[in-house]
Amino acid sequence: MKMDFHCHTTASDGALPPEQLIDLAVQHEVKCLAITDHDTTAGYESVIEYAQNNKVQLISGVEISCDWRGSTIHIVGLDVDVANTELQQGLAKIRTSRWQRADEMVAKLESRPNFNVPQFGEKLQAMVGEGVVGRGHFAQLLIEENLVKDAAQAFDRYLKKGRVGYVKHLWPPLADVVQWIIQAGGVAVIAHPKVYKMTSRKLNFLIADFKQAGGQAIEVVNQPRLSSEITGMADRANAHGLAASLGSDFHRPEHHWRGLGWLAPMPSNVMPVWMLFKTSVETIKK
Ligand code: MN
Ligand code: MN
Ligand code: MN
Repeated sequence: MKMDFHCHTTASDGALPPEQLIDLAVQHEVKCLAITDHDTTAGYESVIEYAQNNKVQLISGVEISCDWRGSTIHIVGLDVDVANTELQQGLAKIRTSRWQRADEMVAKLESRPNFNVPQFGEKLQAMVGEGVVGRGHFAQLLIEENLVKDAAQAFDRYLKKGRVGYVKHLWPPLADVVQWIIQAGGVAVIAHPKVYKMTSRKLNFLIADFKQAGGQAIEVVNQPRLSSEITGMADRANAHGLAASLGSDFHRPEHHWRGLGWLAPMPSNVMPVWMLFKTSVETIKK
């Protein structure tokens, strides 16, 4: 039985509309799924019934960007009440600021004399649609316009710090974001801890601050990871008294190394995050 508590749809920067994501979950035999779009719960909300009809148990979720001592950290909120006002107001504010940043990024790119993509801003808006704009969309558009060959090159040449398209974004503080999730009755999870490339010591500081703020879990299993990294992260979760989550961070089918539900098994020595859900995970009940 497979579970996946981290993935994206067209409601943020994923390639598949929410219904197609559910179809893929069925195809990959993922029985329990949390859709965790960036800073929105709209994708999840749109397929609650569709998932039920297809016998996929959906757990509500969201992935929220925040600031911790100058670093951008992603916090996944699981099993949240999506009707919670504080959570939704926080997310709405982030979405507004994301478009402000995107507009500044477009202006910076277009200010470069040899940047010849007519109507870049309009194309970006069309691509994002009702979704939540992010640098991933910029990367995708730069690929489609044949300015770069892949997303890594897009970040390297245009989007990362120090490049022409980079605009610093001021995210809400980590403690605020954890509070929104707690207010909404959910479980806060540090997403993909290895992605931040922190020293072990710094990661321990992050975890300590996160725990202090009320955070309860850390992603221990995600892709692509060595099994030694998974057991190491499991030990770290246990040392800090945190539960362990698992998630592929699926964005698009062509990223075959991050397939929906294609995850290593959860180590047996951890407290699995679903033990903290108010919703009981049906596939676990024997
Ligand atoms: Mn993303
Ligand atoms: Mn993330
Ligand atoms: Mn993600």
